[in-house]
Amino acid sequence: MNCPFCRIVARQRPADIVYEDDHVVAFRDINPQAPVHILIVPRDHITGPLDFDDSNARIAGHLVSAAARVARQEGIAESGYRLVLNQGRNGGQSVFHVHLHVLGGRRMQWPPG
Ligand code: AMP
Ligand code: ZN
Repeated sequence: MNCPFCRIVARQRPADIVYEDDHVVAFRDINPQAPVHILIVPRDHITGPLDFDDSNARIAGHLVSAAARVARQEGIAESGYRLVLNQGRNGGQSVFHVHLHVLGGRRMQWPPG
């Protein structure tokens, strides 16, 4: 298995897992860009946001609803947080298993870099 996030889902690679259910696994980013920086990944390998279509759109919903749960758990629900999905080179994607970034604990800038 080449994909690092599939390996985390399969518990073949260590990660600081903060939440999991039948659909998703959430773990702390190894290089956090905010006081709270968690990645939420589907258990199924989906390469990136471009691979969402009508057949698997429910999985995108699971990522977002898990983010709300994790935000409450991490104490950033009230202060707010940012969700990011990067696609491809210009999107800044570096791991090709779709992952929803949950960033919080500080004020985010806009526009993003
Ligand atoms: P992206 O640039 O959107 O593809 O984001 C990939 C993210 O995955 C980056 O923020 C990395 O710091 C993070 N990352 C890469 N490998 C790991 C890992 N083994 N455990 C946790 N986070 C990771
Ligand atoms: Zn994968």
